[in-house]
Order: sequence, then C-alpha cells, then structure tokens
Amino acid sequence: METQTDILIAGAGAAGLTAGIALAGAGFRVALRGDLETRRNGRTVALFEASLRLYRALGVWRRLAPLACPIETIRIVDDTGSRLPTPPLELQAEEIGLDAFGANIENASLVMALAAIARETPGLDLRETRLDDYEFASSDARAATVDGEKISAKLIVGADGRNSRLRAAAGIKTREWNYPQVAITALLRHSRTHWRASSEFHTRQGPCTLVPLPAEGANRHRSSLVWLMNPGEAKRRMALADGELAREIETQTRRLHGAIALEGPRAAFPISGLACQSMTAKRAALVADAAHFFPPIGAQGLNLGLRDVAQLVECLETRGADDPGADKPLRAYDRARKLDVSVRALGVDLLNRSLLWDLPPVDFARGVGILAMAGIGPLRRALLREGVTPPGRLPALMRPLADAR
Ligand SMILES: Cc1cc2nc3c(=O)[nH]c(=O)nc-3n(C[C@H](O)[C@H](O)[C@H](O)COP(=O)(O)OP(=O)(O)OC[C@H]3O[C@@H](n4cnc5c(N)ncnc54)[C@H](O)[C@@H]3O)c2cc1C
Repeated sequence: METQTDILIAGAGAAGLTAGIALAGAGFRVALRGDLETRRNGRTVALFEASLRLYRALGVWRRLAPLACPIETIRIVDDTGSRLPTPPLELQAEEIGLDAFGANIENASLVMALAAIARETPGLDLRETRLDDYEFASSDARAATVDGEKISAKLIVGADGRNSRLRAAAGIKTREWNYPQVAITALLRHSRTHWRASSEFHTRQGPCTLVPLPAEGANRHRSSLVWLMNPGEAKRRMALADGELAREIETQTRRLHGAIALEGPRAAFPISGLACQSMTAKRAALVADAAHFFPPIGAQGLNLGLRDVAQLVECLETRGADDPGADKPLRAYDRARKLDVSVRALGVDLLNRSLLWDLPPVDFARGVGILAMAGIGPLRRALLREGVTPPGRLPALMRPLADAR
C-alpha cells in the first residue's frame, strides 16, 4: 500500500495525537502512525493553562475536561531536613487571576480521548502501527510501516518519544545524562479530600508529589503519585505489597490525605535527561519527548511538548503552506523553540540537583528562594505566571482566545 500526504507524524502519544489534530485543523493532509499507549500505569500529566488554551482553541477541551481535575492550589513542603528550614508554601491560582493553574489527567485517558477525536478529524488518517525505515530527500521524505505501507510526505514530524527512531534516522545529535533517581507512579484513593491541591514534599532523594484526580464512581477522593527516590529505595518499594507501600506514602505525605489505598498498578521510571542539538533536520521536525526529556518535576514535560506542537503549527501555517517540509518554516520553528526548551531543562535540572546536593550553600540558596516566594507577592506572582503561561511570545493557539489568531 502506498500513501502520499503533506505531513506524516511518527508516534501516537499525547504529543503526536495533538499535533495530528492541530495540523489537520490547519488544513494539512496528515497521516499519523503509532501504537496507542492506553495501559493504565499510574502515570498522569498536569497540564497548565497554556496547554488548556491549546485544547480549547482546538475545540477538544470539552471532551477532556470531564476526565481531568483542576489544580487550584500548589503546596510545597520542605522535607529535606535543610539547614535553613522553611515553612510550607501554599500558592493559589487566584493570585494570578486564574480559577486553576491547570488540570491533572491520566495519561492513558488523555491518549484514548485524543485518539477518538483524531479518528473523527477530517484530513487526519490515524493508523495503529509502527514506522520503520526513513529516507530524506530534497523534495520529500519517505517512511515504511512495519506492516508494509509506504508513505511519502513533505515533512515527517517525530513525536515518537524519548528513544525516537526518527531523530536517529534524521541524524540529529543528542546529549543524554542520568540522575540517581527512579520515579514511582501510582493512582491512589484516600479518605480525605485533596481540596484540588497538588502537594509536593521535597526530600533529599527528590520530590514526592500527590496530584489531584477527579472522582471515579464511588471513589470520591483520588490522586496520582509521582515519587522520586534513589534506585535502591525504588526497588525496595516496588517489591512492597500495596498496603505496605500505601503506609509509606501516608508517612511521607504526613497523612495529609488520610488513609491511602492503591488503585491499580504502579510503575517505575528511571530518571534521565536528553537534549538535541537541533529540533529539525532535512524534512524532519521533532516535538515533545523526542526533542527533550528531563525529570518529572514541576510538571513541565508535556506542557513544553505542547508548546512545540503549537509553535510548529504556527510556523507551518504562516511559512510552510505550500511546502511544510521546506527549510524556511523548519528553521523558524527551531529558532522559536530554542530558548524555552533550554530554560526549562536548566530550571528543572537545577531544582532537582538542589534537592540532591546536601551542601550548606545550596540549602541556603533554596531556603532563601522559598522564603522569598512566601514573602514577596510580586515575585511569587511573576514566578507562578512564568510556570503556567510562560513569558515571551506564545504561539497563537496558546494565547487567550480573545487575541489568538
Ligand atoms: C512519572 C512522570 C510524570 C510526568 N508528569 C508530567 C506532568 O505532570 N506534566 C507534564 O507536562 N509532563 C509530565 N511528564 C512528562 C510527559 O509524560 C511526557 O512529556 C509526555 O508523555 C510525552 O509525550 P510524547 O507523546 O512526546 O511521548 P510518549 O508518550 O512517549 O509517546 C511516544 C509514542 O511514540 C510511539 N512510538 C515510538 N516509536 C515509534 C515508531 N517507530 N513508530 C511509531 N510510533 C512510535 C510510542 O509507542 C508512543 O506511543 C511526566 C513524565 C513521567 C515519566
């Protein structure tokens, strides 16, 4: 079977599906090929305001909102035993004029809902298969699926995750590094309400975070867990019975949510980082984890990836209408994404290492930072805004609806 299209997207995770819906909405013919990762593994994503604006602008948020829980408060508790102890910090969305910082949704639910929307989107052809062999020529790019379909496209978008095959085939160089940490994820139900608050307990091994989830059936109080710890502790905790792990979560989170029980399977993710020399190559562009990867701290990963998607759509719409794989729109995309991606990766890296480094000057600097956030309103509001709606020029699909497009 042979397929000709404007844009081929490799990878049907949240980023690839969103890119497919947005690019088809912008008038391109899009083929999207990838497996749907719909296993429930305790992994959720907190999406901030700019990401929600993207989904609103695409007209899909009303389908996702019932699956998500708004995050109205962010609570940070320093549990490092720091030499400069700080009181718990509570940040409210209303301080920056928002009802909520964003919303938390199970990754599997997000992928399933986006896949259903993708199947109804005119101009978007989604098939569950994997892409193999890539070839890049000056006038087009070609790929083959493992089941024998041959596809030619003006542009191939790599949304195929951290081990991106497209990235390697396009010859994009990477820098990779590891952290002495593993994240355990799980869905939890608990006896007390979460008050729509995300609660982060910063420990010497990394943050332990409870993020609110919506009620499901009779389970009214639910949250997701992202707990970073050293690999030895992760191995021990992964081997615990559900009840034993639940008790350890209760202890670490100071029984804030009352009695906890695990809901379904847990998963463990070794923590690493990846940066690319460029987000584009001849007739190829990368988005989301295929382009950058860092620890799940401050919920930045997919939010950053969706900014890639929104920016790519804008560059292709404005400069690539005739040929979306031409140099001009791809260069514009690479340029537009460099600063945001490197600033986020650096910020997350520093925050993570500031917890791991047990050194007096680092403790002091972190403590002063938290105290300044608590005491200086304008600074706190500026940092909060920066986290949920990054400064600088946001792509049109992420601007408030009134001035978008
Ligand atoms: C524990 C944890 C917690 C996190 N929490 C948050 C959070 O709260 N907020 C946030 O913004 N981010 C969070 N992140 C990051 C976020 O989950 C990722 O950034 C996001 O899922 C990346 O989406 P993606 O579509 O790029 O990649 P993936 O979800 O990895 O999807 C890639 C897809 O490509 C497919 N694929 C691979 N190879 C091929 C091929 N050859 N052909 C076709 N398809 C292929 C894969 O099967 C997969 O479906 C978290 C990450 C972790 C690990």
